[in-house]
Amino acid sequence: MSSITENFQRLNKETGDDVLLVAVTKTHPVEMLNEVIDAGATDIGENKVQEILDKYEHVKPVRWHMIGHLQTNKVKYIIDKVSMIHSVDSMKLAREINKRAAQHDLVMDILIQVNSAQEESKFGITTDETGALIEEILESCPNVRIRGLMCIAPYADDPDTVRQYFAEVKKLYDKFGAIEHENLDFKYLSMGMSHDYKVAIEEGSNLVRIGTSIFGERDYSKS
Ligand SMILES: *Cc1c(COP(=O)(O)O)cnc(C)c1O
Repeated sequence: MSSITENFQRLNKETGDDVLLVAVTKTHPVEMLNEVIDAGATDIGENKVQEILDKYEHVKPVRWHMIGHLQTNKVKYIIDKVSMIHSVDSMKLAREINKRAAQHDLVMDILIQVNSAQEESKFGITTDETGALIEEILESCPNVRIRGLMCIAPYADDPDTVRQYFAEVKKLYDKFGAIEHENLDFKYLSMGMSHDYKVAIEEGSNLVRIGTSIFGERDYSKS
């Protein structure tokens, strides 16, 4: 068994049936995507539009997740390819997704990206802004369905120290998930990467985005 298969299956078992394991394949070639899909992966995460476009046609059928920052002018390229966009953090982006989804006669699933640690280097809105953004999307974006929240915690050698940032987003998830609206159906709390997924799951995550622990370190010099 290859190490990718082994790593994926071990992680999938460890995280359990209630947590969706999204295999993050950025920088990795199509062969590695197909390998993890053969191992049982149903969901693939990429953080760049161009990589999705380059790989999409060469990969076995699978659900694609846009997990990275998305520029409005690139929404049109992926609107009919991805099953969920994790990184919605502005009305401008939500409106563009809505417009392009309508053109394709589809409803796009999105997550709101919350930057609970308020790190300046990261995208996402603050916890205080979350309610207003959700409300405005529900008012003006009929072709967008809000499925939950996403959070990237600050990197810490000891992930136990960022536990509070996950917990804050879980609180928002429970609060806004109670809203009754046909375009809001919370199912995913997307938190946790290779180094902090255990803590994220302990704090309520049900979707982890994992690259390094499946595929090994990324080599950015090749991309
Ligand atoms: C790269 C990336 C991941 C995966 O990170 P690993 O540390 O390799 O597991 C998860 N989420 C986002 C948004 C990413 O860009």
